[in-house]
Amino acid sequence: MIEQTLKQTFGFDSLRGGQQQVIDTVMSGHSCAAIFPTGAGKSLCYQLPALHLPHLTLVISPLLALMKDQLSFLHDKGIAAASIDSSQDRQQTQQVMADARSGQLKILMISVERLKNERFRQFISQVPISLLVVDEAHCISEWGHNFRPDYLKIPHYQQTLNIPQTLLLTATATSDVISDMQNKFAISSDNTVVTGFYRNNLDLSIIPSEQQDKLNQLNQTIQASPLSPTIVYVTLQHTAEYLAEQLQQTGISALAYHAGLESQNREYIQQQFMTGEINCIVATIAFGMGVDKSDIRRVIHFDLPKSIENYAQEIGRAGRDGQHSQCILLGNKDGLNTLNNFVYGDTPDRESIEYVVKEIYQHSPMWEVQLIRFSKDSNIRQLPLKTLLVYLELEGVITPKYSYFSDYRFKFITQKQQIIDKFEGERRLFVESIFTCSPQARTWCQIDFDALWQGFHAERQRVVKAIDYFNEQGWIELESKQITDVYQVTDITRSQSEVIDKLDLLFKNKEKAETVRLTEMIGFFESDTCLSHRLAHYFSDHNAPQACGHCSACRGIIASLPQQVNPPIDLSQLIPWIEEFENAGSKSLTHEALTRMLCGITTPLSTKLKAKKMGGFARLEQYPFSEVLKMVQEVRKS
Ligand code: ADP
Ligand code: MG
Repeated sequence: MIEQTLKQTFGFDSLRGGQQQVIDTVMSGHSCAAIFPTGAGKSLCYQLPALHLPHLTLVISPLLALMKDQLSFLHDKGIAAASIDSSQDRQQTQQVMADARSGQLKILMISVERLKNERFRQFISQVPISLLVVDEAHCISEWGHNFRPDYLKIPHYQQTLNIPQTLLLTATATSDVISDMQNKFAISSDNTVVTGFYRNNLDLSIIPSEQQDKLNQLNQTIQASPLSPTIVYVTLQHTAEYLAEQLQQTGISALAYHAGLESQNREYIQQQFMTGEINCIVATIAFGMGVDKSDIRRVIHFDLPKSIENYAQEIGRAGRDGQHSQCILLGNKDGLNTLNNFVYGDTPDRESIEYVVKEIYQHSPMWEVQLIRFSKDSNIRQLPLKTLLVYLELEGVITPKYSYFSDYRFKFITQKQQIIDKFEGERRLFVESIFTCSPQARTWCQIDFDALWQGFHAERQRVVKAIDYFNEQGWIELESKQITDVYQVTDITRSQSEVIDKLDLLFKNKEKAETVRLTEMIGFFESDTCLSHRLAHYFSDHNAPQACGHCSACRGIIASLPQQVNPPIDLSQLIPWIEEFENAGSKSLTHEALTRMLCGITTPLSTKLKAKKMGGFARLEQYPFSEVLKMVQEVRKS
């Protein structure tokens, strides 16, 4: 049966390594984890079973672009699949929901954020689901390279939605991440399928390179075979622009690709690369997801990747056709501070954690929060703030209840009076009062809930229900903004300081783990043993050859990445920089806050104080964070 579907529906002759075992496991009713390298065919592991399972397959995917790629593939094969996402209008979403309800739909793709929406949860809880798929499942692990706090809640959703089995898909899972995935979804090691990570057609070279020599080296490398399809990875958008221009001047058809470009433009560039109109893309990490070009002959890292996982993913795009391909890193340690600073910028000050915990304890038993505003008030970036709240959830201190939009605005599609005329008696008065309390600007009417309550004792919930209904009927177009999350404060029996200590420690550990990961990455590049072997081993493939014979280490070239030496700093220089920041903020700013400013790390606070315009901002970005922190402590002591 599976065989037949494979041929008839998908048009494939046979299953690839790993696919058979995963599909068998899923079909026998067990949860399963598939860890295959990029391009190995993970999607088929859910797409095929989905056609044979009795109910819906629900796929959680972290990126809209990934969803769209998989959907267009499925539609090509005539499979009933759809997504609910932010790019759709109301009608499209309702059609998808109707198809899911009627059982017509086989595959539904959503982002994890969709599950925070109470209305969606209500809808989906009424649809029987056979299988929950988590694509890019390493996002659930704090030890993964792409941790998404909301992913920590997926096991909970699985239980409450009564989904009998899960399939986790990822390309990059270290042993820590694998055991995390197994624990969270009760997957046995027998049902964890790891295919070989090792690729015998990829030639890995680490070339030590001073910053000022890199452009030359890049040119030489590319000129060696100017027509080979090549991706050059860089960290910053402007580097992408600059390099593409430089390469063009030497006659290479190169274009820049990054998130700062219009999406139409991006698609065009990607298309040009796919069809071979251009040979070289200079890209930030924005490029690659869903790029299905099999004959990429070269991946060059002009800057350090963000992690070993990123490196693996990026070089993994080379040589999908199995032909010999080169992966070259032009390396030095100059960019290491920048990478470390990303990490330090995400660690909240203890003061900030205190602020959050106090707020929550004060607002027991119900606490409402608007993330963007609270991020500013607490001086914690949004992502770590989300992480912090998930930690507090997992500690049992708070429990999410629901979210609502604090601001609603709408415009009329049907005339106001016609809507009112559809109702009688008390309801008619109620509808009239809503419109009375929604002053109209040019086209949009903003609902004033306070006025509705004070003037008409109309409860917020009833109003929201009503306008939702008008919207569903197509009488108005409704927009909602400023999401507010409501939490129940479930446990304040523990002392605040105990909770604060615990959170502080969690973040410190996280910071430590992330900086260690960066050190490990450098250690990997400077390895004196086979790079292919070490890389495969890192990703739990223990069958790679001890010495591949096609990496720089095997060729006897052990890379030592150069590091620029920073001149010593006269501490008195720091005084005016520190004072300017203190004067704008307060004397009680933490040492860390000052250090971040000097290292050029932005936080909500530094944005508020307009730190970027200050004399000291980013002045010491070449220096390691820990060194700058010591300097700051020294200066403030005296
Ligand atoms: P991954 O998610 O592991 O990176 P995909 O699921 O996107 O990989 O699959 C990569 C490509 O391989 C797709 O074009 C897919 O259609 C193709 N593919 C998957 N399985 C098979 C198979 N058994 N036979 C032939 N092609 C396959
Ligand atoms: Mg995939």
